Amino acid sequence: MSRESLARATNSKNMEMESGITHDVDRLAAAAGGDTLGGLLLRMREGAQARWAKRVILILANRIREKHKLTRSIAEKTAMAALEEFLAPHCTVCRGARVMVVEKVKIVCEGCGGTGLQRFSNTTRRQNIGTYGSRIEGAMADAHGQMSDALGAYLSHAAVRLK
Ligand SMILES: [Zn+2]
Repeated sequence: MSRESLARATNSKNMEMESGITHDVDRLAAAAGGDTLGGLLLRMREGAQARWAKRVILILANRIREKHKLTRSIAEKTAMAALEEFLAPHCTVCRGARVMVVEKVKIVCEGCGGTGLQRFSNTTRRQNIGTYGSRIEGAMADAHGQMSDALGAYLSHAAVRLK
């Protein structure tokens, strides 16, 4: 999903109106033992991105805002940048393949050094969020952790239901 469409889906006026509601939805889901965020992230990874972007960003922003002492606006921008990274984790050069085979010779990708992952520099994050420092770095790491945990929890919950 492009940065532009993410931005459109998260028009700030709508965000403000829905923020309080989403906080409640998130709390209810948590109380019920499910994880709304995990389900939404799975749907987004499957392609229904624009539809769920706003809710995911609001849920994430609510989870990181107070803990990292961010303003609502910075928390939402940080959540959006983290989501963008989460949805495009693979190296743009090798697309996650890590090595390229040329005439039977394996060549480690120069773009990622063989990790297969895209590296997001502080400069890129600063451009995306508008500001960057240790507090936002901590919030970004937290947001990434929240997303991995939520997706993992949702998938294991779903696996139990399928048994
Ligand atoms: Zn690569």
